[in-house]
Amino acid sequence: MKSYDLRDLDRLVSLTCQKNFETLQRAFASVVTELMGDKIFRLYLNKELDEGVEPEFVLIGASCANLSKETRQSDKLQLSQFISNDHDDVSEDSQDENILLPILHGHHVYGSLIIEHGIDFYAEMHSNVILSAITIFSNQMSLLQNSSQDALTGLFNRYMLDNAMEHILSVSQARREGDNHDHQWCLAMLDIDHFKAVNDTYGHLIGDEVLLKLAQLMKKCFRHEDMLFRFGGEEFSILLKGVDLEQAIKILERFRTTVSDYRFPQVGQVTISLGVTFMAPGKFPSALLGNADKALYYSKEHGRNQLHCFERLHELNLLEDISTDTNDLEFF
Ligand code: GH3
Ligand code: MG
Ligand code: MG
Repeated sequence: MKSYDLRDLDRLVSLTCQKNFETLQRAFASVVTELMGDKIFRLYLNKELDEGVEPEFVLIGASCANLSKETRQSDKLQLSQFISNDHDDVSEDSQDENILLPILHGHHVYGSLIIEHGIDFYAEMHSNVILSAITIFSNQMSLLQNSSQDALTGLFNRYMLDNAMEHILSVSQARREGDNHDHQWCLAMLDIDHFKAVNDTYGHLIGDEVLLKLAQLMKKCFRHEDMLFRFGGEEFSILLKGVDLEQAIKILERFRTTVSDYRFPQVGQVTISLGVTFMAPGKFPSALLGNADKALYYSKEHGRNQLHCFERLHELNLLEDISTDTNDLEFF
C-alpha cells in the first residue's frame, strides 16, 4: 500500500482551516480529488442537514467532468439503498465492485464517496489518509454546525447572519445586471409582540417554548433556500432568496398571518411585527440591518402585528424622524 507523505498531511490540515460550510465542502472535494489519484470516483453530499428530511444528494467532486445521466441515476439508487440498509459500514456492490464510503454527520448520512472498482481500495491506495480526510471533514462539519446554530431553536445564529450577508453582498456585487433573479435577496427582521408579557404571565419556560414553536413555524413556512436566523432574544432574521420586494412582502405577509392564526400551547395567540428591505448590491450589512430594523420599528409604532417595507416608507417620507440610510454612517 502506498504510504502517505507530508503533502497529504498539509491537505488534511487545510480542512481544519475552513470557516464556513461552502469553503469546507470545496476544500474537501479538492483534497479527495488529489488523494484519489487516477481512481474513478464520485463524491456526493446531502443538501439536507436536517434528519428526517428526504435526502438530496448533490455531486461535489468526480474524477470525470461529464457524468452520464445513467451513472448519476445508478449512484442515487445505490445511495438510497445504502441509507435504507442502515449504513453500518462500508458498502460493497458485488456486481460492479463499487465501494461506498459513508460520510457521517453524527448518525446522519451526510454523503458518500463512491469508488468504482474499489474492491482493492484498502490494498492499493491511500486508504488510511482518505478515511482520515473523511473523518476530519465530518468532525469539522459538526464543529461548524455547533458554532453556527442557536441552541434553543436550531436556527442559524447572529454570527452566521453576518457571514451570510457578507457573502451574499460580495457575490451580488460581482455579478452584472441582467443576471437571473436567483441572486436577488431580501432581508427581513421580525420581533415577537409583547413577549415580555408572555414571560411575565406564563414564565420563562413557556416563553422558551413560544420561541421554539415560532422557529418551527418558520422552518415549515419558508423555502429551503431561504436562511433563517435567531438574531437574539425574541428577534429573528430571514434572508429570502431569489425574490424582489413585492414577492418578499407576499411571502412574509403569509407568514405573519400563519403566526397570528396559530394557537401556541398554553399562551394562545402570539403576533409578530416585521420589517423588510431589498439587499441592493453595494450596501453594507449594517446599513441593511438598520433599514430592516427601521421598517420593523415602524410596524411596532403603528399597531404591531404588521409588516412594513423600508423602501416604501422611505419613498413616502414616513421615516423622516430617523436617519434613513446608515450606509452614510461614520465609524470612529
Ligand atoms: P414589543 O412588542 O415592543 O417587542 O414588546 P416586547 O415585550 O416583546 O419587548 P421587550 O424588549 O420589552 O421584551 C423582550 C422580552 O424578551 C424580554 C426578555 O426577557 C424576553 N426574552 C429574550 N430572550 C429570551 C429567551 O431566550 N427566552 C425567554 N423566555 N424570554 C426571552
Ligand atoms: Mg425585541
Ligand atoms: Mg418583542
